[in-house]
Amino acid sequence: MSVSLINGSFIVAGLLFILALAGLSKHETSKRGNILGALGMALALVFTVLGVVFGTASGAFPVAPAAPPWAIGAILVAVAVGGVIGVMRALRVEMTGMPELIALFHSFVGLAAVLVGWTTYAAAFAKGHFDPLHSGELFIGVFIGAVTFTGSIIAYLKLSAKMRSAPLMLPAHNLLNLGALVAFVVLTVLFVLYPAGTGGLVLLSVMTLLALLLGLHLVASIGGGDMPVVVSMLNSYSGWAAAAAGFTLDNDLLIITGALVGSSGAYLSYIMCKAMNRSFISVIAGGFGSDGAVVGEQKDYGEHREISAADAADLLKGASSVIIAPGYGMAVAQAQGTVADLTSRLQAQGVNVRFGIHPVAGRLPGHMNVLLAEAKVPYDIVLEMDEINEDFAETDVVLVIGANDTVNPAASEDPASPIAGMPVLEVWKAAQVIVFKRSMATGYAGVQNPLFFKENTTMLFGDAKERVADIVSAL
Ligand code: NDP
Repeated sequence: MSVSLINGSFIVAGLLFILALAGLSKHETSKRGNILGALGMALALVFTVLGVVFGTASGAFPVAPAAPPWAIGAILVAVAVGGVIGVMRALRVEMTGMPELIALFHSFVGLAAVLVGWTTYAAAFAKGHFDPLHSGELFIGVFIGAVTFTGSIIAYLKLSAKMRSAPLMLPAHNLLNLGALVAFVVLTVLFVLYPAGTGGLVLLSVMTLLALLLGLHLVASIGGGDMPVVVSMLNSYSGWAAAAAGFTLDNDLLIITGALVGSSGAYLSYIMCKAMNRSFISVIAGGFGSDGAVVGEQKDYGEHREISAADAADLLKGASSVIIAPGYGMAVAQAQGTVADLTSRLQAQGVNVRFGIHPVAGRLPGHMNVLLAEAKVPYDIVLEMDEINEDFAETDVVLVIGANDTVNPAASEDPASPIAGMPVLEVWKAAQVIVFKRSMATGYAGVQNPLFFKENTTMLFGDAKERVADIVSAL
């Protein structure tokens, strides 16, 4: 197969990835973006496999011979097994399980980068030939891959609640991180200078172990409140790990794709930091959110008041403006369809209904937007926090559906709160607030919410989908 044809297909795939990112940046075009991305990946996979099966040539000159039949068989089996597992997982995953699934996928990218680095090293070791530039690329690739691998596994455990979301605060944990980075720089220099023999093998092994531990420690020491930044940060790392593997394998497409994922993930981390009013360094330094205990529980906020679905429906009938603030609980209850029903009922009665979306609501960047799009809620009534925060004061009723941390007034009113400084949806400024949740339990950051005890707030307990359905019937 001609090298030009393969390179041409890679350029087209790269362009499709860029168009995919452009499409994914707006609700209206996100479906098209997804399809373009999948097309680009299919094209890249097909031409990579064809190049391996038939070998490559530049004009009349052979570049790489066809792989032996056993290797072709192994590749096809790997593609088939990976494809089947991917399709099965994608079909079975609930929307609430997406964040941890994505974290798990990031860990695979990290592991792949480590394996690419190690096999490339093994091949060079066998030949006894090392190029300084390639040695450096390989070493950095393994480092990023190993940090991504273990970091993503910890993120998976925290997001799936298999591990406490509280930050692990080892003494001098920032010094540990800094020390690991300095050790990595020293080991890199030594490896580039002396990659051969047992010495090189020991350097690579020590660095891999160090990077695996650094990944564990880095994510374990980040508090629950900062997990949104971690998800996007690991997304970015997985991209750079893929790009590093691309350098090691001399594969331009992997470099382009990795750089696209790496830089868009880095930009997402910036957006998340801005949304939470945190600097990237303070996120890495860890500790935002509670230490695992329920914070604020001991404070006397007074009594909360309850409301029935029928009374909530009466309140809504008399309202002329309603804002819905959805959160993670809406995803758990799978209430988006029923919430969309409620929206159209109220609109039919002349009520101005809009949605206020906090940038870190749910467990995934854009989580609420995806759910509402799935339920066919019109995009023009779904507004970001900055666009809607000023309007709460003129709103008759706010429905807080399964949101907690993202509507917690303590973030702006109590400087001692573990989430102090994080901008939130200022729902309490509305005339009436109805909170849909099952109990008085805290949200992800483990912080009690004074909103629930305010005079203009009433609690509508139960599963959000069932309670919203009750209101729809009462209307
Ligand atoms: P929270 O996680 O703060 O709270 C969700 C609330 O939903 C809980 O208090 C729970 O209360 C309620 N709930 C759960 N299930 C149901 C149900 N079936 N019916 C009704 N209510 C239900 O949600 P927010 O969206 O406000 O905040 C997101 C949090 O997650 C933030 O702390 C954010 O930092 C963090 N995070 C966000 C990520 C992202 O990328 N967006 C990634 C990782 C973490 P109860 O149990 O009483 O029903």
